[in-house]
Amino acid sequence: MARYAMVIDTRKCVGCMDCVVACKTENKVPEGFNRDWITTEARGKFPAVQMEIRTERCNHCSNPPCVHCCPTGASHVHDHGGVVLVFHDLCIGCKACLASCPYDARFIHPDGYADKCTFCIHRVEKGMEPACVAVCPTHCMYFGDLEDPHSPVSRLLAERRHHAIAPEAGTEPQIYYLI
Ligand code: SF4
Ligand code: SF4
Ligand code: SF4
Repeated sequence: MARYAMVIDTRKCVGCMDCVVACKTENKVPEGFNRDWITTEARGKFPAVQMEIRTERCNHCSNPPCVHCCPTGASHVHDHGGVVLVFHDLCIGCKACLASCPYDARFIHPDGYADKCTFCIHRVEKGMEPACVAVCPTHCMYFGDLEDPHSPVSRLLAERRHHAIAPEAGTEPQIYYLI
Protein backbone atom coordinates (compact mmCIF):
# COMPACT_ATOMS: atom_id res chain seq x y z
CA MET A 1 0.00 0.00 0.00
CA ALA A 2 1.59 3.29 -1.11
CA ARG A 3 1.67 6.41 1.09
CA TYR A 4 2.28 9.39 -1.14
CA ALA A 5 4.08 12.41 0.22
CA MET A 6 5.87 15.51 -0.97
CA VAL A 7 9.31 16.60 0.17
CA ILE A 8 10.33 20.19 -0.54
CA ASP A 9 13.87 21.51 -0.21
CA THR A 10 13.49 25.00 1.24
CA ARG A 11 17.16 25.70 0.50
CA LYS A 12 16.44 25.48 -3.22
CA CYS A 13 13.02 27.18 -3.45
CA VAL A 14 13.35 30.72 -4.81
CA GLY A 15 9.64 31.59 -4.63
CA CYS A 16 9.29 31.98 -8.42
CA MET A 17 5.65 30.76 -8.31
CA ASP A 18 6.04 28.51 -11.37
CA CYS A 19 4.36 25.79 -9.26
CA VAL A 20 1.38 28.05 -8.65
CA VAL A 21 0.98 28.89 -12.34
CA ALA A 22 1.42 25.22 -13.36
CA CYS A 23 -1.28 24.11 -10.93
CA LYS A 24 -3.73 26.73 -12.13
CA THR A 25 -3.16 25.71 -15.74
CA GLU A 26 -3.17 21.93 -15.20
CA ASN A 27 -6.23 21.92 -12.95
CA LYS A 28 -8.16 24.83 -14.48
CA VAL A 29 -8.27 26.51 -11.05
CA PRO A 30 -10.75 29.39 -11.38
CA GLU A 31 -9.81 33.06 -11.27
CA GLY A 32 -9.30 34.30 -7.71
CA PHE A 33 -8.52 30.87 -6.19
CA ASN A 34 -5.36 28.79 -5.70
CA ARG A 35 -4.59 25.19 -4.80
CA ASP A 36 -0.99 26.10 -3.90
CA TRP A 37 0.79 29.24 -2.78
CA ILE A 38 4.15 30.59 -1.55
CA THR A 39 4.86 31.42 2.11
CA THR A 40 7.91 33.17 3.55
CA GLU A 41 8.74 32.76 7.23
CA ALA A 42 11.69 33.77 9.43
CA ARG A 43 12.81 30.62 11.26
CA GLY A 44 15.36 30.01 14.02
CA LYS A 45 16.70 32.18 16.84
CA PHE A 46 18.91 35.24 16.52
CA PRO A 47 21.63 35.27 15.32
CA ALA A 48 20.92 32.02 13.44
CA VAL A 49 17.79 33.27 11.70
CA GLN A 50 16.92 32.15 8.18
CA MET A 51 14.20 33.26 5.80
CA GLU A 52 12.39 30.14 4.64
CA ILE A 53 10.58 30.31 1.32
CA ARG A 54 8.25 27.40 0.74
CA THR A 55 5.48 26.25 -1.56
CA GLU A 56 2.37 25.10 0.34
CA ARG A 57 -0.82 23.16 -0.48
CA CYS A 58 -3.12 20.59 1.13
CA ASN A 59 -0.96 18.32 3.31
CA HIS A 60 -2.93 15.16 2.49
CA CYS A 61 -3.01 14.52 6.23
CA SER A 62 -3.04 10.95 7.56
CA ASN A 63 -5.52 12.07 10.24
CA PRO A 64 -7.61 14.49 8.15
CA PRO A 65 -10.22 16.51 10.09
CA CYS A 66 -11.76 17.58 6.75
CA VAL A 67 -12.69 13.94 6.10
CA HIS A 68 -13.85 13.24 9.65
CA CYS A 69 -16.21 16.25 9.70
CA CYS A 70 -17.74 15.92 6.23
CA PRO A 71 -21.46 15.08 6.66
CA THR A 72 -21.93 13.50 3.23
CA GLY A 73 -18.78 11.44 2.65
CA ALA A 74 -17.71 13.79 -0.15
CA SER A 75 -14.32 14.36 1.46
CA HIS A 76 -12.56 11.02 1.55
CA VAL A 77 -9.22 9.24 1.55
CA HIS A 78 -8.53 7.78 -1.89
CA ASP A 79 -7.72 4.07 -1.91
CA HIS A 80 -4.44 4.82 -3.70
CA GLY A 81 -1.66 6.45 -1.70
CA GLY A 82 -3.67 8.02 1.13
CA VAL A 83 -4.51 11.06 -1.03
CA VAL A 84 -7.37 13.20 0.35
CA LEU A 85 -9.96 13.99 -2.34
CA VAL A 86 -13.51 15.34 -2.74
CA PHE A 87 -16.35 13.65 -4.64
CA HIS A 88 -17.79 16.74 -6.35
CA ASP A 89 -21.26 15.25 -6.81
CA LEU A 90 -21.60 14.40 -3.08
CA CYS A 91 -20.44 17.80 -1.82
CA ILE A 92 -23.18 20.18 -0.65
CA GLY A 93 -20.80 23.12 -0.14
CA CYS A 94 -21.46 23.33 3.63
CA LYS A 95 -17.85 24.50 4.34
CA ALA A 96 -17.39 22.28 7.40
CA CYS A 97 -14.16 21.02 5.87
CA LEU A 98 -12.92 24.57 5.21
CA ALA A 99 -13.43 25.39 8.89
CA SER A 100 -11.70 22.20 10.07
CA CYS A 101 -8.51 22.52 8.00
CA PRO A 102 -5.66 24.11 10.00
CA TYR A 103 -3.86 24.96 6.75
CA ASP A 104 -6.58 26.92 5.00
CA ALA A 105 -6.02 24.60 2.05
CA ARG A 106 -9.61 24.48 0.74
CA PHE A 107 -11.97 26.81 -1.05
CA ILE A 108 -15.45 26.54 -2.49
CA HIS A 109 -15.24 26.25 -6.26
CA PRO A 110 -17.65 28.55 -8.14
CA ASP A 111 -19.46 25.35 -9.23
CA GLY A 112 -20.40 24.75 -5.58
CA TYR A 113 -18.07 22.03 -4.25
CA ALA A 114 -15.05 22.10 -1.92
CA ASP A 115 -11.82 22.10 -3.90
CA LYS A 116 -8.10 21.86 -3.13
CA CYS A 117 -4.88 20.12 -4.17
CA THR A 118 -5.40 16.55 -5.38
CA PHE A 119 -1.66 15.67 -5.51
CA CYS A 120 -2.51 15.61 -9.25
CA ILE A 121 -3.66 12.02 -8.80
CA HIS A 122 -4.92 12.04 -12.43
CA ARG A 123 -1.28 12.46 -13.55
CA VAL A 124 0.28 10.24 -10.85
CA GLU A 125 -1.94 7.30 -11.82
CA LYS A 126 -0.58 7.65 -15.37
CA GLY A 127 3.02 7.52 -14.07
CA MET A 128 3.59 11.28 -14.28
CA GLU A 129 4.68 13.73 -11.59
CA PRO A 130 2.27 16.34 -10.17
CA ALA A 131 2.29 19.42 -12.41
CA CYS A 132 3.89 21.66 -9.77
CA VAL A 133 6.72 19.17 -9.22
CA ALA A 134 7.30 18.72 -12.95
CA VAL A 135 7.79 22.42 -13.72
CA CYS A 136 9.92 23.53 -10.74
CA PRO A 137 13.03 25.14 -12.29
CA THR A 138 15.21 24.51 -9.21
CA HIS A 139 13.99 20.91 -8.78
CA CYS A 140 13.25 21.57 -5.13
CA MET A 141 10.09 19.42 -5.02
CA TYR A 142 9.98 15.63 -4.76
CA PHE A 143 6.91 13.40 -4.87
CA GLY A 144 6.78 9.70 -4.09
CA ASP A 145 5.94 6.77 -1.86
CA LEU A 146 7.09 6.78 1.77
CA GLU A 147 6.39 3.02 1.99
CA ASP A 148 9.25 2.47 -0.47
CA PRO A 149 12.49 2.93 1.49
CA HIS A 150 14.40 3.49 -1.78
CA SER A 151 12.17 6.29 -3.09
CA PRO A 152 13.74 9.78 -3.23
CA VAL A 153 11.24 11.06 -0.65
CA SER A 154 12.17 8.29 1.83
CA ARG A 155 15.89 8.76 1.28
CA LEU A 156 15.73 12.55 1.67
CA LEU A 157 13.78 12.29 4.92
CA ALA A 158 16.31 9.76 6.25
CA GLU A 159 19.26 11.97 5.30
CA ARG A 160 18.14 15.56 5.93
CA ARG A 161 16.64 17.53 8.80
CA HIS A 162 13.05 18.45 8.06
CA HIS A 163 9.85 19.83 9.50
CA ALA A 164 6.15 19.81 8.71
CA ILE A 165 3.72 22.68 9.19
CA ALA A 166 1.73 22.80 12.44
CA PRO A 167 2.31 19.17 13.51
CA GLU A 168 0.79 20.18 16.88
CA ALA A 169 -2.61 20.21 15.14
CA GLY A 170 -2.42 16.41 15.15
CA THR A 171 -3.41 16.01 11.51
CA GLU A 172 -0.21 14.13 10.54
CA PRO A 173 0.62 16.26 7.48
CA GLN A 174 2.39 14.50 4.60
CA ILE A 175 4.31 17.40 3.14
CA TYR A 176 7.80 17.70 4.55
CA TYR A 177 10.15 20.66 4.29
CA LEU A 178 13.90 20.05 4.23
CA ILE A 179 15.89 22.64 6.23
FE1 SF4 B 1 -7.69 18.16 4.95
FE2 SF4 B 1 -6.48 20.49 5.30
FE3 SF4 B 1 -5.16 18.21 5.88
FE4 SF4 B 1 -5.69 18.87 3.34
S1 SF4 B 1 -4.37 20.00 4.77
S2 SF4 B 1 -5.99 16.84 4.27
S3 SF4 B 1 -7.67 19.89 3.50
S4 SF4 B 1 -6.97 19.00 6.91
FE1 SF4 C 1 -18.11 17.71 2.82
FE2 SF4 C 1 -18.50 19.43 0.82
FE3 SF4 C 1 -19.29 20.06 3.31
FE4 SF4 C 1 -16.68 19.97 2.68
S1 SF4 C 1 -18.19 21.41 1.87
S2 SF4 C 1 -17.64 19.09 4.52
S3 SF4 C 1 -16.62 18.27 1.21
S4 SF4 C 1 -20.08 18.39 2.04
FE1 SF4 D 1 -1.71 21.67 -7.80
FE2 SF4 D 1 -1.25 19.16 -8.48
FE3 SF4 D 1 0.65 20.55 -7.24
FE4 SF4 D 1 -1.55 19.84 -5.89
S1 SF4 D 1 0.02 18.46 -6.72
S2 SF4 D 1 -0.57 21.86 -5.86
S3 SF4 D 1 -3.12 19.93 -7.51
S4 SF4 D 1 -0.19 20.95 -9.29
